[in-house]
Amino acid sequence: MKTLREYIKEAEEKKVAIGHFNISNLEGLHGIYQAAKKLNVPVIIGLSEGEEDFVGKDEAVGMIKQIREKENFPIFLNADHHYSFERVKASIDAGFDAVIFDGANISLEENIKITKQCVEYAKGLGRDVLVEAEIGYIGSGSNIKETIPEGAGIKTTPEEAKNFVEMTGIDMLAPSVGSIHGIIKSGKPHIDADLVAEIKKVTGIPLVLHGGSGLRDEDFTNGIKAGISIVHINTEIRLAYDEALKKSLVDNPGEIVPYKILQPAVEAIEKVVEERLKLFNSLK
Ligand SMILES: [Zn+2]
Repeated sequence: MKTLREYIKEAEEKKVAIGHFNISNLEGLHGIYQAAKKLNVPVIIGLSEGEEDFVGKDEAVGMIKQIREKENFPIFLNADHHYSFERVKASIDAGFDAVIFDGANISLEENIKITKQCVEYAKGLGRDVLVEAEIGYIGSGSNIKETIPEGAGIKTTPEEAKNFVEMTGIDMLAPSVGSIHGIIKSGKPHIDADLVAEIKKVTGIPLVLHGGSGLRDEDFTNGIKAGISIVHINTEIRLAYDEALKKSLVDNPGEIVPYKILQPAVEAIEKVVEERLKLFNSLK
């Protein structure tokens, strides 16, 4: 099987993007995997620090490896938004395929310093681990927000991106190009595709779009055409899970079998992921 790096390269060439979806439990994984399998496209499972603590690092690595090796399916595991070298290192040591050091909200100097430390650690291993980093704060938390958080959404300039990539040696970059983490109630953010294209041109590495939930279809397609190779979706899945689970509990007050109560939630996740994967991979 091709490596994650090779799948990303392939996505770059085909001008499509690999979907990255977060999980908090086994239901999430099942829903996402079913959708990816149905469409036969590679997929990345993400775990933030909180999600990772809840699922368990070793358990997550075990589940993904089982599917990848036994089913021969391209599913990969990413440590999404880790905020210290120690947390990044722990995920790498546990066997994650990729990691994100998120220093978007600390000083640029510190961000460069810790990102470099993560890159050096990853490069010193006997296996290929991808390191992604962020510049430009786009808010945090996959939740519903009334408005854009203070200080968030200042776009990354091509020059900043170029310097950051050269200074750190990262494999992938998440710049701030218009999206915001979470779903913004006051209006849909807009992706600056021209900026994506400029950043792509000067950095030459795969770009990752965070805060994809709630964006218009054309924002995704324009961004992907301009150079986005991975798109992160989390809030939309959480919302679908939450709504389906609440409905299931209300509709079946006498039901106590967890796998029956939770089945509609798995299906709801699958539906969201399938739609997003079709769009990202330009499938009908
Ligand atoms: Zn993110």
